[in-house]
Amino acid sequence: MTPSAARALAQAIGSGERRALAKAITLVESSREADRATSIELLSLLGPAPNPSFRVGVTGVPGAGKSTLIDVLGLQAIAAGKRVAVLAVDPSSQHSGGSVLGDKTRMTRLSTEPAAFVRPSPTRGVLGGTTGRTQEAILLCEAAGFDLVFVETVGVGQSEERVASMVDCVLLLLLSGAGDELSSMKRGLLEAADLIAFNKADGDRVSVVDRDASALRASLAISRGQHVPPVLVISGHEGTGVATLWQALTQYHADSAHSGAFFERRSQQRKAWFEAALEDAWRGLFVRRPDLLPARSAAMQSVESGALSPLEAAERLVTGLIPAPQP
Ligand code: GDP
Repeated sequence: MTPSAARALAQAIGSGERRALAKAITLVESSREADRATSIELLSLLGPAPNPSFRVGVTGVPGAGKSTLIDVLGLQAIAAGKRVAVLAVDPSSQHSGGSVLGDKTRMTRLSTEPAAFVRPSPTRGVLGGTTGRTQEAILLCEAAGFDLVFVETVGVGQSEERVASMVDCVLLLLLSGAGDELSSMKRGLLEAADLIAFNKADGDRVSVVDRDASALRASLAISRGQHVPPVLVISGHEGTGVATLWQALTQYHADSAHSGAFFERRSQQRKAWFEAALEDAWRGLFVRRPDLLPARSAAMQSVESGALSPLEAAERLVTGLIPAPQP
């Protein structure tokens, strides 16, 4: 893609063309070096988002009802005047494709709304877990005027910090009867959650779900002291509790902005993003600068022959590029 193509794409995104937005998200996900350069240019051209936004991570085990909930919650948000984008991220995967989010018909109502953008083709279109790329995709949605961004992630019990590092608020969806699971694998997820909702409180399950929610509230009061997240009881299917959940989300947004925690978290995320970008830039340097290739090949050879350890070879290669400061 040429520089003028990046400009055309930026313009199309700015005027809210969703095909352009979808194309741009695919572009930032690409690992091709030429696409990287275009992505960086595109993001510079777009600049800061026109509207302040709210980024909500929705996480939970497969089948917890994330897609169903985002569908109704998204409609609720649109009714409140928001423009809603939905991205799917698989934090267990560093690459796009082949995701545990699965291939299914998702968010059928929301995806037909003019004020919503649901990233199409769930399996192919799932972002890998890289923090930077997700942040870029979020920025693209915001540049297209979406001021509420849902980032749907699978809670697999090993990547909760990464989930929290991508969004302003983590909403954890739980199912009743997962007590044992919670005590082991989901500890980390519980700690990363800013809001918790027990889902599928419908039919004959209502009283069981209520009981589990009370038990969790009591246990969180002990483990998290003053910072106990709200634990709600909802049914994405029937819509019960969804209005209350929407209120809790907007309250969280307002409270964290008021206390400054919102901006502090964004600032930490930008720093983490810089670290990730720095690593990418180092790696990319050896592709963009052919004059560095002989040194890289020589280092690789010394690793192959066993003369240097991989760590040592990498260290020497990198320090060799930068002249040591004069004493
Ligand atoms: P995800 O994998 O977390 O995105 O879950 P889905 O939204 O795809 O839902 C998984 C299954 O649970 C589907 O068969 C849904 O119809 C069902 N489901 C979702 N929400 C509810 C709910 O509130 N109550 C009930 N009873 N079933 C639900």
